[in-house]
Amino acid sequence: MTKILVVADIKQGVLKGSTTELLTKAGSLGAEKAVVAIGSNLAGLAPDLASAGSDTQYIADDPGLELFSAGPYASCVVDAARQFEADIIWFGFSEKGKASAPRVAARLGAACATEITDITIDQSHFEIIRPAIANKVIQRVKVNTGQLVAVVRAGAFEALEGNSGTENVVQLSPPEPDLKAVIKKLLSDASGEIDLADADIVVSVGRGAKDQGGVDLIKELAADLSAGFGSSRAMVDGGFMAHNKQVGQTGKIVAPSLYVAIGISGAIQHLAGMNGSKVILAVNKDSEAPIFNVADYGIVGDLFEVVPILRDEIKKVRA
Ligand SMILES: Cc1cc2nc3c(=O)[nH]c(=O)nc-3n(C[C@H](O)[C@H](O)[C@H](O)COP(=O)(O)OP(=O)(O)OC[C@H]3O[C@@H](n4cnc5c(N)ncnc54)[C@H](O)[C@@H]3O)c2cc1C
Repeated sequence: MTKILVVADIKQGVLKGSTTELLTKAGSLGAEKAVVAIGSNLAGLAPDLASAGSDTQYIADDPGLELFSAGPYASCVVDAARQFEADIIWFGFSEKGKASAPRVAARLGAACATEITDITIDQSHFEIIRPAIANKVIQRVKVNTGQLVAVVRAGAFEALEGNSGTENVVQLSPPEPDLKAVIKKLLSDASGEIDLADADIVVSVGRGAKDQGGVDLIKELAADLSAGFGSSRAMVDGGFMAHNKQVGQTGKIVAPSLYVAIGISGAIQHLAGMNGSKVILAVNKDSEAPIFNVADYGIVGDLFEVVPILRDEIKKVRA
């Protein structure tokens, strides 16, 4: 039976939904499922890890692991992968995953693939599906090694109810400290805004918003919807939005339940970051804008007229 080790995505002590998505997929492939959780103060997390769908929980809990550092983090994953004799090691789509996956693959002598959206297993042979060249092509890649390390694209797999596993905790020894890079302090975004990666709804602003007044208007719509507030690159380059808000090929990849693109043309580099969203609503005054090719719902109109109407209607529905 194929053995899949999922690297738990933990943020501020809380297990993120992507871990359940990956374990659900592992279950649907008929694999033996384990999880590795790495960090500090993880006591009490084992039941959550089991109910997310794992049958073995490798836990590296050490004060030295409080701040993420790719070297020690990768060492913990390698330790768990060796103990579990994992065939596949899966990371969710996060900075931690992207930084650690190649290190883990190099240490295990395994193949490494990023941004996979699907996998098939045929008698220990793996074939992965991944978009490439800003989603212009879909690659089917046959993996020639017996072991695969992969980063799964956000929203690629769905979490299902009833995927619960059993509790069987294996404590890992703390890794050797990384002498090449020591993380001293983590500076977080202090804005208190919803992280795009965690948001169930994302509202993004494009050049159509013109200036700070337009940005503020769309930001209010995002607040009404309790949504993450994202941006096209044009508004980042224009100095209106911070770089960590950029959605797209060179920004963040998001896959929320609802993505609202306002005043965004739909350049291929933007689509690469959001066309995995479940429902897309676009507002654009140009009926020929390419964003309408991927939108489920489209409003052709001037955003300065449409957004206040949308806000009023949302308020009415919420009331
Ligand atoms: C290597 C590379 C990487 C890139 N990476 C990214 C990336 O990660 N993310 C990204 O977003 N872009 C990226 N880009 C840039 C991308 O090609 C586009 O230039 C950018 O996405 C355009 O942003 P926009 O849609 O906001 O602006 P525009 O393309 O200028 O579109 C503005 C839209 O607003 C509409 N509009 C104007 N006024 C109104 C109004 N009053 N009401 C309603 N609609 C209105 C217009 O009809 C138009 O469709 C990248 C480019 C390159 C070359």
